[in-house]
Amino acid sequence: MKPVYSVIVPVFNETGCLEELHRRVSEVMEKTGESWELVLVDDGSTDGSTEMIHNFAQTDSHVRPVIFARNYGHQLAVTAGMDYSRGQAVIVIDADLQDPPEVMLDLIAKWREGYEVVYAVREEREGESGFKLFTASLFYKVIHKITDIKIPMNTGDFRLLDRKVVNVMNTMREHQRFLRGMSIWTGFRQIGVPYKRAARFAGSTKYPLKKMIKLAMTAITSFSYFPLQLATWVGAFFTAVSFLFLVVMIILRFAAHSTFLAGQVTTLVAVIFLGGIQLIFLGVLGEYIGRIYDEVKGRPLYTTRETPSDENN
Ligand code: UDP
Ligand code: MG
Repeated sequence: MKPVYSVIVPVFNETGCLEELHRRVSEVMEKTGESWELVLVDDGSTDGSTEMIHNFAQTDSHVRPVIFARNYGHQLAVTAGMDYSRGQAVIVIDADLQDPPEVMLDLIAKWREGYEVVYAVREEREGESGFKLFTASLFYKVIHKITDIKIPMNTGDFRLLDRKVVNVMNTMREHQRFLRGMSIWTGFRQIGVPYKRAARFAGSTKYPLKKMIKLAMTAITSFSYFPLQLATWVGAFFTAVSFLFLVVMIILRFAAHSTFLAGQVTTLVAVIFLGGIQLIFLGVLGEYIGRIYDEVKGRPLYTTRETPSDENN
């Protein structure tokens, strides 16, 4: 029998959180009085999380384990969770209890009202550094400005998706994934629910700055051509400037007999400056081409050591 709800949790080295997560998610989901499953996706953990997930699966029939062959990153772990989920409503939540499981009931309430994407909006955040808050807010502002997809401010991957949305997203097999953008892109009926983001229950963040930058680049390149188009505008600007410059220089030379800016340094600075700009845009091109290359190779998104047995589907 297919459950009404699937709760998807990506897990990467979370031994300190898993017991508490399992307890609290179970407690909340039991309150719904309906059937549910807990899809725990082990993203190549090396700290014993895998064994803990196995133990849960043995003692609790709600638990569906998906074990990756290596670490593929948070977005792909959630993708695998969506692939193996069976519920009518699918909830994505982090393992570290920063997203309080109790909020799932609010998401479900909105789903019952007929909304198909219910995303949780962070009103307050505990235990996060000023730097993280600043970079996150900058990121949302940039994304808002330059993409066509209106990704709401202060939302993460904590959200509820209707089966219709999950089915569409499961057909979107792009390697470079920015799930919160993709779920908005599907265009179904969407609404936000405010919540207070808690501090991590145990352990430390698995999203260092490097991974955050990578996700931000994926978000931008997946939903916008703006960095490519910027080259056109910058190019047009410098063409105009150089033309004006030429006119001014001719006038100065012949009308005023001036040798203003006639030295080698001027030439050198101009060449290095424009060389730098050209290299930057080559890098932008490279970013898109690399991503196209990733897509055309057509490799599977992830490899699994173990997937749920579906005898009792
Ligand atoms: N995570 C994952 N694979 C990774 C990194 C993170 O599955 O390579 C999981 C992690 O276990 C957690 C969620 O993604 O459940 C969010 O990670 P984290 O809490 O470390 O990120 P933060 O909240 O600090 O942005
Ligand atoms: Mg976290």
